[in-house]
Amino acid sequence: MGRIQLRNVTKSFGDVQVIPPLDLTIEDGEFAVFVGPSGCGKSTLLRMIAGLEDLTSGEIEIDGKIATNVPPAQRGLAMVFQSYALYPHMTVRKNIAFPLRMAKMSKAETDQRVETAAKSLNLMDYLDRKPADLSGGQRQRVAIGRAIVREPSAFLFDEPLSNLDAALRVGMRLEIGELHERLKTTMIYVTHDQVEAMTMANKIIVLRAGVIEQVGSPLELYHKPQNEFVAGFIGSPK
Ligand code: ADP
Ligand code: MG
Repeated sequence: MGRIQLRNVTKSFGDVQVIPPLDLTIEDGEFAVFVGPSGCGKSTLLRMIAGLEDLTSGEIEIDGKIATNVPPAQRGLAMVFQSYALYPHMTVRKNIAFPLRMAKMSKAETDQRVETAAKSLNLMDYLDRKPADLSGGQRQRVAIGRAIVREPSAFLFDEPLSNLDAALRVGMRLEIGELHERLKTTMIYVTHDQVEAMTMANKIIVLRAGVIEQVGSPLELYHKPQNEFVAGFIGSPK
């Protein structure tokens, strides 16, 4: 589970078309990274996949079913944003459990899932703290925990590390990579950072002004960039 297909998808805001017709398939279990300069449409694409933004035209299929009109909560996806969006008045435990409480899951199963997520993210000692008493990295882990407990068929990350300092970013990249190895769940990860894309992805989707310039593995893009833009973007330091 976790195959995502975009067919002929477009997006306009008013008269401005920010995504011209676009086709893309992300296979089950892939770690796909959308990379491109600020304003190229990465978040818009991710939000359309998540169901947080309507398509102007086209179709999105998730696990073989047309999802275009399926509400976000029923798509089986979990999104992790750059701003952690944790509830400040709730403990870590309650923050992680929140989506399950919304889904009216039993207390026993909720506790079980929260514990599993907390263990896998090294949060067991922090379950009774509030977000204000956590470091940036711990907060981001709580946000990821809140995604994990839903057992989604895919994770969607929108620049989840851009608020963290450089050292923490490196650590969190490794942790997200390890999570992918372990869960083998599809991950779609948005970043404007070439290094992040090159080190984390199985499949990189390079975007410019809403257009896919190239899709390929990091090595393919590195050795065989299809055009000057990809070559410059992947080759040049940030
Ligand atoms: P990225 O995430 O790659 O930085 P976005 O997807 O946020 O880019 O934005 C793509 C383009 O769409 C930008 O030109 C942005 O200004 C525009 N845009 C995004 N959201 C809206 C909106 N709600 N209304 C109008 N324009 C928008
Ligand atoms: Mg964005």
